[in-house]
Formats: sequence, structure tokens, C-alpha cells
Amino acid sequence: MTETIFAKIVRREIPADIVFDDDDVLGFRDLNPQAPVHVLFIPKRPIATLDDAQAGDAELLGKLLLAAASYAREQGFSKEGYRTVINTHTHGGQTVFHIHVHLLAGRQMHWPPG
Ligand code: IMP
Repeated sequence: MTETIFAKIVRREIPADIVFDDDDVLGFRDLNPQAPVHVLFIPKRPIATLDDAQAGDAELLGKLLLAAASYAREQGFSKEGYRTVINTHTHGGQTVFHIHVHLLAGRQMHWPPG
């Protein structure tokens, strides 16, 4: 896959506001937040899109979701709730081709999304 800006964030080659960091997953604030809290969770080992994920990626994908949930719990978002989103390819609105889970919190979300 073609390297993206997120790989540079993983290697600390460009700055990011990192809020979560473990062996497999990095979480950092979105540059263009769509909610009072907007954090992106990415695997350190890149997968381009959800469409590219294989059975062997199951554990890593699980860790991505658990990282988002753990951060949300720790930050106290569990009671009011929050939204997690994975955009895939053009119709999904994906712009960075290194899979990421958006965590949005701090306001009422609406359905259906735009
Ligand atoms: P996508 O549209 O689901 O692919 O989401 C990509 C997200 O990455 C967008 O919400 C962008 O605002 C965000 N983004 C792009 N470049 C950076 C960056 O360098 N740091 C933090 N967020 C970024």
C-alpha cells in the first residue's frame, strides 16, 4: 500500500496530539474536529481500508475498537455515549488510506449521517 501521513505520525516524523499509545495502536486528535472530541485510532501496522482487512487482521481490528472504547471510558464518555466510525473508499468518505476508527464525542450525534 502507498504510505500515508498517518505512517509519519506513527514514526513521530510529523507532530500529532497523541492521546493513546500502546504496542499496536495509536490515538491522536483529528486536525479538523467534527465534534468537541474527535480522536482517530490507527493500527501501527497499516491496513489501507476495511475492505483490505483479512482474517489475520482480526485481532488488530479488535484492538483498534477496544482502544477507542477504553479511551472513551477513561475520559468519561460512556454515560452520554459517543460514535465510532470507519469510512471506507469513496462513498464512505475515506480520505486517508491507513485504516482508522473515528471516535466522536461531546455532542448529540444524528442519524442518518450525511
Ligand atoms: P477519513 O476521511 O475517514 O479518511 O478521515 C481522515 C481524517 O484524518 C480526517 O478527519 C482529517 O481531518 C484527519 N487528518 C488528516 N491529516 C491529519 C493529520 O495530520 N493529523 C490529524 N488528523 C488528520
